[in-house]
Amino acid sequence: MERTIDRSVRLFSEAKEVLPGGVNSPVRSFRAVGGQPLFIQRGKGPRLWDVDGNEYIDYVLSWGPLLAGHAHPVVVRAVQEAAERGTSFGAPTEAETELARLIREAIPSVDMVRLVNSGTEATMSAIRLARAATGRSKVIKFVGCYHGHHDALLVRAGSGALTLGVPDSPGVPQEIVAHTLTAPYNSLEAVERLFRLYPEEIACIIVEPVVGNMGLVLPENGYLQGLRQLSQRHGALLIFDEVMTGFRVAYGGAQALYGIKPDLTTLGKVIGGGLPVGAYGGRRDLMEKVAPAGPMYQAGTLSGNPLATAAGIAMLRLAAAPGVYEDLEAKTRRLALGLKEMADRLGVPLQTSSVGGMFGFFFNERPVKDFDGATASNTRRYAAFFTECLDHGVYFAPSQFEAGFMSMAHREADIDRTLEVAEDALRAARYAR
Ligand SMILES: *Cc1c(COP(=O)(O)O)cnc(C)c1O
Repeated sequence: MERTIDRSVRLFSEAKEVLPGGVNSPVRSFRAVGGQPLFIQRGKGPRLWDVDGNEYIDYVLSWGPLLAGHAHPVVVRAVQEAAERGTSFGAPTEAETELARLIREAIPSVDMVRLVNSGTEATMSAIRLARAATGRSKVIKFVGCYHGHHDALLVRAGSGALTLGVPDSPGVPQEIVAHTLTAPYNSLEAVERLFRLYPEEIACIIVEPVVGNMGLVLPENGYLQGLRQLSQRHGALLIFDEVMTGFRVAYGGAQALYGIKPDLTTLGKVIGGGLPVGAYGGRRDLMEKVAPAGPMYQAGTLSGNPLATAAGIAMLRLAAAPGVYEDLEAKTRRLALGLKEMADRLGVPLQTSSVGGMFGFFFNERPVKDFDGATASNTRRYAAFFTECLDHGVYFAPSQFEAGFMSMAHREADIDRTLEVAEDALRAARYAR
């Protein structure tokens, strides 16, 4: 039977009347791949259903948070029970301490935590803290890394911005980003040069330790260690933005995987179990500068929200079960290697990689180690691949410059089916112009 998406088409045109571009976040539009977004009715485990009743195996998973898959009964029950007790109090609750403890136990570099409502708030606040603690203004970020949409970091910011071709945004004054320095990912020389150019002016380096926002790009050997040493030598703080990688590439995030101790860590996505949450945390002496313990102001009406903390706690407890990450990693690797083997056989240049429950692939002749490498990928091939997969019930990200995500709920049979569909999709990609 031919798949139809008539209801999605109608809902999208109605949405465009009242929502800019018909969506509430640009990455949801299908601009990079042509076509139009699907309106989703429900999800369960690894699957999504659109409003026309089509079923998909989902590798977007709300862009990473749904480590246990959609509507996991334990998470749903936790949220329901919390809602019945009241949705927000603007006063402390026990669950906030509990979520903070779970984070601290998982991530030894984190002594104290402040909960916020999104990853954007987390990185914005961590940068403010780094500036407050060092008395310096400048920030080093890496080209193609995304840290949320606040002004200071909306510079050469990867995926969403990259996909739309607006690495900088109008509305961000030059004066505001004058303190934002950029360097290519995986180049320590570029960072050394910045420290030479601006001695004693750089407050912090912020980095996605594993980049998920220009497609998946892994740190080269010694790169993260190098950033740790350089920041220490020059009196700057090192912020690991683990909003995506936290509890995703390993329970303890990328810092556990690579054995690095950053000064501050930002979190989001998985720690909210699918509800809006972010967090920043780190060394006690730094975190004690945050109001009301210290002078750096940062606040939030709904921060530590009871529904969000309940979902987060439930999620992290599920993730802490033995074997979760081994299983995720094995499934993710099988998918990535399966795609690679097939592409090689079909003569389609494809680079694939995976780490923990994250994977990525580039239609590219060469391995990708930075933004320039990523953008040299063939986007027409990706669009053809994506469309063919979607038509046959496999939902990958609607842009090549996004990571893919595996959940605990995906079964081997889902991966079998995905690889079957992908084979035809790779054939379609081969002839794409
Ligand atoms: C998603 C993401 C953010 C922003 O989080 P939001 O909750 O969308 O504001 C920040 N940093 C990284 C690495 C991310 O992947």
